[in-house]
Amino acid sequence: MHENTGPQRDAASTIFNLPNYHVIDAIDLPDGGRQVVIASSVPPGCPSCGVIATKVHSRRSQQVRDVPVAGTVQVVWAKRRWFCLEPACARRTFWEATDQVPRYARSTTRLRDQVVSAVITSGRAASEVAQAHGVSWWLVQAALAAAAVALPAVDEVPVTRLGIDEHRYRSVRWFRTDDGAWRRFEPWMTTLVDLTTGQVLGIVDGRDSTAVGTWLAQRSECWRERIEVVAIDPSAAFRKALRTYLPRAAVSVDKFHLVKLGNDMVTTVRQRLARTHHGRRGRKDDPAWAHRMLLLRGADTLTPRAWERLEA
Ligand SMILES: [Zn+2]
Repeated sequence: MHENTGPQRDAASTIFNLPNYHVIDAIDLPDGGRQVVIASSVPPGCPSCGVIATKVHSRRSQQVRDVPVAGTVQVVWAKRRWFCLEPACARRTFWEATDQVPRYARSTTRLRDQVVSAVITSGRAASEVAQAHGVSWWLVQAALAAAAVALPAVDEVPVTRLGIDEHRYRSVRWFRTDDGAWRRFEPWMTTLVDLTTGQVLGIVDGRDSTAVGTWLAQRSECWRERIEVVAIDPSAAFRKALRTYLPRAAVSVDKFHLVKLGNDMVTTVRQRLARTHHGRRGRKDDPAWAHRMLLLRGADTLTPRAWERLEA
């Protein structure tokens, strides 16, 4: 014999699959769009006393932004206002709310989760994700901000590849000290990320080894031992902190910075040679100066003509 273990859903509700809602109507709109009308299927608990309400006060239709389901759909929630019949409760009526559409929300939790994971896992710009999901930049930004407030419990995230990067979060400021002199203030911060998932683990003030060292010191021994690779940019002053707290981790430097260091060295050598040979700086009729950009290009991207010019 076959028995249902859960409440039986109708086909439309199963396809739409929004938890705690069922589909009560689906309409083809004149402009070719589709409208899905949904109603909540959770017991309406009073937000003040928690007693389940049984008597409907009124209804209204609320538009809700949601993920596309087999294409874009306009979602309308047939929302109910309930009487709280608990005599001891001061609240007379309340609008129902659910996990998917909490109080004051205008979009479903599953839509917000989806845009946040699109930004975090694919590293796409908020504006691009907004466009792809047919929502406003503000919605993406607000969802991201809400997700960022909940920084992960770092010690429970098993990280094997750690990324450390510095950012200047605003322009340089000058301020006067007590003795009237001007002091330069560099507003830097350092972000620590899990390179495997792109998840931000922590943000510290400044960009020196003390700031990063303090953060690493707060991690457990076992957390630090799991780190196999740390990616930093080569000019960073984090090495001291890494030697102290992550002595076994391999330090990796990204390609861009490595190539830049190499190119800077080629340029320094070319300038020194020009001064030794000509006793002055390079001029535009010196072949080495004229072809200085060619020297910095990858050998595999040079055209035969470029090779001829280099060898001349
Ligand atoms: Zn109540």
